[in-house]
Amino acid sequence: MDNKAGSGICPACGAANSIVREFPFPLFRHLDFVRLDTETGRLGECSSCGTIFRIAKAQTLQDIDALYRSELYAAHEEVHAISVPGGADPVPASRVQAEALVGVLPDFPPRILDFGCFNGRLLQEFSTLRPDATLVGYDVAPRDGFPTGGAFTLETGDWRDIDGPFDLICMSHSIQYVREIAELMYQIRAWINPAGAIFIQTPDILKKPCALLLGDLHYHFSETTLTALMSELGFRVKMLQDMPFPRDVTLLGRVGDRVERDVSEFSGVSVLESAHNHVRALSNAIGAHGSKPADGILGTTIEAAFLDEELGGRTRFFVDENPKRIGQTFRGRQILHPQDVTASSVVLVPLGSQTVPVAERLSAKYSASFVVL
Ligand SMILES: [Zn+2]
Repeated sequence: MDNKAGSGICPACGAANSIVREFPFPLFRHLDFVRLDTETGRLGECSSCGTIFRIAKAQTLQDIDALYRSELYAAHEEVHAISVPGGADPVPASRVQAEALVGVLPDFPPRILDFGCFNGRLLQEFSTLRPDATLVGYDVAPRDGFPTGGAFTLETGDWRDIDGPFDLICMSHSIQYVREIAELMYQIRAWINPAGAIFIQTPDILKKPCALLLGDLHYHFSETTLTALMSELGFRVKMLQDMPFPRDVTLLGRVGDRVERDVSEFSGVSVLESAHNHVRALSNAIGAHGSKPADGILGTTIEAAFLDEELGGRTRFFVDENPKRIGQTFRGRQILHPQDVTASSVVLVPLGSQTVPVAERLSAKYSASFVVL
């Protein structure tokens, strides 16, 4: 890994001592996991707050922002569902989030802002739990399916024009997309009621290192680095350890004073280097698998896309446990439920920190061979 010190200002906290690292892997867009044909990947890592940020020409960064305002993006459908221990069917992630957060709302009618609300699923869950709530969604462009009227308002365009205050502000998988992150956090501090809170959920790059391969994100975080950044920007942070998202950071922040940190905190192995090493190890494992049988790939997100790209697209299908995915296609091939995969088939499993437990669980339940990569 080539490192270059002192080559960038951290766009998140403003510190001037970022390290720039080359990232020589294919990049994908998270919209549909198609390979991006952009310039070589370069990532910066702040030596102060630890935030990892994408370095690219101004035009590339503007293209990223424009993508989320496009009709292509508006038309896509994201199905977030999770398997909960003891539950038979996957549950919408938005329901799990709302049920976990409803307890932080005040007794009086609360005002909730979902920043990056897409079609308003999370706010709809809140409306069921708290019919007295005022529900404001923000996204960069109009979204079909967002509820109209009643307690719901959809704000689009410039977020600086949104009127507070709010008792809860949610950023579920949206913090990585906001380039002006420091400015937004100052705005959020102004929006939040003194007793209010901000909820952030975002992939933990140490547990989902392949997220580095998403070329249309501005930022990547780990639990430690997001905590450091939030502290730098004036929030007291508490991790929500009980939430069933094993590869995400889930935290609650409240407005507080900047917390003095030990500046040597990030002097060990860098988060970016660790995540980079995971991606390289996966790439090596794919290379070592070589021409051995590979009928399918588990997953329909970034790891599966990377694996498929590195294998030259030679598998016949993808595998997903989410019933809503079955019958759809991913990168042009069909998505099967594990129960429909024949016993003689080899399915490769590339899921970062969850690879071994998931492969063991699926092997115990279904007849195909689930091979750890
Ligand atoms: Zn920083």
